[in-house]
Amino acid sequence: MTMQTPEFIDRARWTDRGFLGGWRSLAGGTGEVVNPATGATLATVGMAGAQDVALAAREARAAQKDWAARLPQQRAEIINRAADLLEKHGAELSGWIMRDSGSVQAKAMIEIEHGALFLRHAASLATQPLGTFIIGMDERRQYARRLPHGVVGVISPFNFPLVLSLRSIAPALALGNTVVHKPDPRTAISGGIIIARIFEEAGLPPGVLHVLPGGAEAGEALCTDGNVAMISFTGSSRGGAKVGELCGRHLKKVQLELGGKNPLVILDDADLDVAASNAAWGAFLHQGQICMATGLVLTHEKIAMQLAERLAEKARNLPAGDPDTLQVALGPIISDGQVTAIREVVEDAVAKGAKLLAGGRHQGRFFEATVLAGVKPGMRAFDEEIFGPVACVVSFSTDDEAVELANRSEYGLAGGVISADLGRAMALGERLNVGQLHINDQTVQGGPYAPFGGRGKSGNGSRMGGPADIEEFTQWQWVSVKQAATAYPF
Ligand code: NAD
Repeated sequence: MTMQTPEFIDRARWTDRGFLGGWRSLAGGTGEVVNPATGATLATVGMAGAQDVALAAREARAAQKDWAARLPQQRAEIINRAADLLEKHGAELSGWIMRDSGSVQAKAMIEIEHGALFLRHAASLATQPLGTFIIGMDERRQYARRLPHGVVGVISPFNFPLVLSLRSIAPALALGNTVVHKPDPRTAISGGIIIARIFEEAGLPPGVLHVLPGGAEAGEALCTDGNVAMISFTGSSRGGAKVGELCGRHLKKVQLELGGKNPLVILDDADLDVAASNAAWGAFLHQGQICMATGLVLTHEKIAMQLAERLAEKARNLPAGDPDTLQVALGPIISDGQVTAIREVVEDAVAKGAKLLAGGRHQGRFFEATVLAGVKPGMRAFDEEIFGPVACVVSFSTDDEAVELANRSEYGLAGGVISADLGRAMALGERLNVGQLHINDQTVQGGPYAPFGGRGKSGNGSRMGGPADIEEFTQWQWVSVKQAATAYPF
């Protein structure tokens, strides 16, 4: 995709800088953002060190009182303007998402569309009722109200960089918090620069949002900073455990949205073509680099081989390559290390008896859509989150066995069940240990209106979106009011 002019994401403004009360050089230096499809350097951005995080947290804390004191409809107006800008400049911005995160155009456009929806949903939160009157134990008048935490630190991953950053930043801001945001440095433009630009242009007051690309060290500095009241983290379970540990040590509220190994159960009465299409979308969208990706295609033994073959046929027709050509269904894997990790999981499965029906090879970072049949517990392909385009077909003979196989995972993010018998699908689905259950659908589903999150190793019981946002980004304050102070026994 070619750049449009004039550019909304104009390089002169942000090259070599971070967004810290305005565009500034950062003490942590600079880092390159590289197109994972071509290896070409797209830009250099400021990289945050601990010093930058401390300064941003201080400024965010100083700005928070005024921001929270604004009329809620004024906060909502700014956030809605940011949504308008995201949509208005969608064609240009989606090009950046394609190039820094290796996304095909359709996925990049989903990020723009959903990003705007998350912003508008957040804006609507600002004007919700935020309290309740409480029955008293005496004549005092009592109520409880929801107050912002203060400064929220947001840490987001590379895979859906725009949406997964906005889904924390927008509700946090709407509800009167200020934010220090640390996107993954590999996707610093789509997960950071774009967000800083839309809010800057929408008229967000300086100091309310800071955007500091940086690595784990900057993330840890955010978790331990005394001016930061809450961390909203989306990423791997390993990273989340570290973040949770640091926040625990500093008695900080933490929201953890982590990995998944998501089962799609296909019953013996399912339409094979429709089921294969669901499995392909769930397993291969964005090269399988999605927390809700279909990680296990659990298929009744009567149809498992036919399903796997149809899936393989689809996989063979999904070209992988540079998304900029607009001719591919799969883009690059984010890093060479991740390509090796995916290959090793496939090799382990084949060595232990799984059948490779399609794919399994890669050219550089372009990994073919891969189908493994006969996947079983004990194979890494069954046990681990792969984060690559690998559909793992597992067969079962009874509904009980499907539930047992699905629930072996330590993760519990999303699950799906496909069957012509709605009652049977729902009865089975309700036994799955997941935070999101999709009947007659695959596992990759998202949006701002539903509470999203996982069980077990997929999180810490927190949820994002819909009614959960007020719960997560504010806390109760109990207020009691006596007509006049009265004396106590002593
Ligand atoms: P990651 O944990 O390596 O990185 C995520 C973010 O955390 C990045 O910004 C990174 O710089 C930062 N980080 C890493 N270590 C840190 C530390 N010790 N302290 C503070 N910050 C740290 O994750 P990844 O591999 O880049 O992303 C993929 C993972 O994210 C997958 O496991 C995927 O399932 C998960 N994910 C979950 C959701 C969800 O909503 N549940 C959504 C998307 C991705």
